Amino acid sequence: MSTQIQNGSSHHGSSSSSSQHPPSNQQPLSRYESQKRRDWNTFGQYLKNQSPPVALSQCNFNHVLDFLRYLDQFGKTKVHLHGCIFFGQPTPPAPCACPLRQAWGSLDALIGRLRAAYEEHGGSPETNPFGGGSIRVYLREVKECQAKARGIPYKKKKKKRNTIIKGTQRPKDIEQQPS
Ligand SMILES: [Zn+2]
Repeated sequence: MSTQIQNGSSHHGSSSSSSQHPPSNQQPLSRYESQKRRDWNTFGQYLKNQSPPVALSQCNFNHVLDFLRYLDQFGKTKVHLHGCIFFGQPTPPAPCACPLRQAWGSLDALIGRLRAAYEEHGGSPETNPFGGGSIRVYLREVKECQAKARGIPYKKKKKKRNTIIKGTQRPKDIEQQPS
């Protein structure tokens, strides 16, 4: 018994690595990584479903913009139209018929994930369709439109609200959007 302890302690100094082998196959992906993988698959499926199907190498920012618009039908964020009496109200007292859209924060985070995934799958940063200026312009327009329609003061950057805005990129907040 005592010899085992001695053997063990003699090994100790050389390497601090543990002998535990984490099961690499079953190692769960982080929330971000698994979400990124899901997004990437969704986008790939979207390209395949186009007629004619779009190869990833042919994909440009127009496909990305179409993809973002396509996603709006699955959105959960009420964005009031100009004619709506609740336009600009953060918490309307009653439901209305305005469309549900993808929240700006979730689109912004989505683009970030897809942009990373594109390069992880061998795409070059120069041709990354998720990194183009058109995408940034589109996201900015969505942000400003939703800020006005929903009465969210995104523009007040001097206050500490910055952190709250960044927080909207978390998927959890998307799910928590109430009607
Ligand atoms: Zn409305």
